[in-house]
Amino acid sequence: MRPTFHPTLVNGPFGDPALYVEFLDRRPALMFDLGEISDLAPRKILRLTHVFVSHAHMDHFAGFDRLLRICLGRDMFLRLFGPPGFIDRVASKLGGYTWNLVGNYTNDLTLEVAEYAHTSPWRHAQFRVRTGFRREELDPPAFPDGILVDEPAFRVRTAELDHRTPCLAFSLEEPEHLNVWRNRLAERGLKPGPWLSALKAAVRRGDPAHTPIRVVWSAPQGRPATLPLGDLRDTVLSRERGQKVGYVVDAVHSPANADRIIALVRGADRLYIEAPFRNREAERAAATRHLTAGQAGGLGARAGVREIVPFHFSSRHEGEIDALRGEALAAFRQER
Ligand SMILES: [Zn+2]
Ligand SMILES: [Zn+2]
Repeated sequence: MRPTFHPTLVNGPFGDPALYVEFLDRRPALMFDLGEISDLAPRKILRLTHVFVSHAHMDHFAGFDRLLRICLGRDMFLRLFGPPGFIDRVASKLGGYTWNLVGNYTNDLTLEVAEYAHTSPWRHAQFRVRTGFRREELDPPAFPDGILVDEPAFRVRTAELDHRTPCLAFSLEEPEHLNVWRNRLAERGLKPGPWLSALKAAVRRGDPAHTPIRVVWSAPQGRPATLPLGDLRDTVLSRERGQKVGYVVDAVHSPANADRIIALVRGADRLYIEAPFRNREAERAAATRHLTAGQAGGLGARAGVREIVPFHFSSRHEGEIDALRGEALAAFRQER
């Protein structure tokens, strides 16, 4: 099956973190972290609908100005997510400019900003260009099980990690694929049609097995108008798990962080994970609340992910790209 999510790091492994995710059949795009993004084409920036920021250290958030510059003057609704204090960070960025003339804009750019922490209260505010980006409080959001966004096409979950400041890790998940066995439909005398979409929607919602589903028969005489959802689900549908991408940056290698990372990214097809330091620098990594390459690889192995992409390498190791990757992959293979 062709993958639905197409993630790309905007910068090289030594550049600022920014992971741009396109979809196979959908125009909007997502972004994880917002470091320097001058290499990201404006047309790509304009497709963004959701931006997930791990924390507001400059290398993860300096791209906000370019995002704003490109989106200004457009009708856009952009959702941003970040750790506690993030709404203040966004307000401060916006407060750095003069907005006296924007009231005349005929279009509206809205930034809806949410804060997630391991324990609520979660906060929510919006900033609209026409009000000069005045902060407007919104009702607190609900993020059950750390789920920030739950849409038909994708779901994003988060976990708060310790980086001596809260830092969010993310997982991007696709709902399971539901396909129809055409031959089994035919064997049962059922006719394909729009009723299959209703069946799939009911299965995705997790409706109970006894739920009646209206069906269409090739020869309707004497046949029931409905069949139970459970029967159809188990006989005419094939279910295949969806794609999963993990994103983990800036976290100390502590038992608590490891547990949260593993639970969040378990079984991912691909894990983007920071690996700033060489294995011999474990002390330095711990002092700056980061991972070593080996720790990153080990976490990927313990989470049972299929592939790791180590990145966010420290600039002090420029020229040691193979060594950093090598240490991460060695631990990944060894501990699997
Ligand atoms: Zn950081
Ligand atoms: Zn960083």
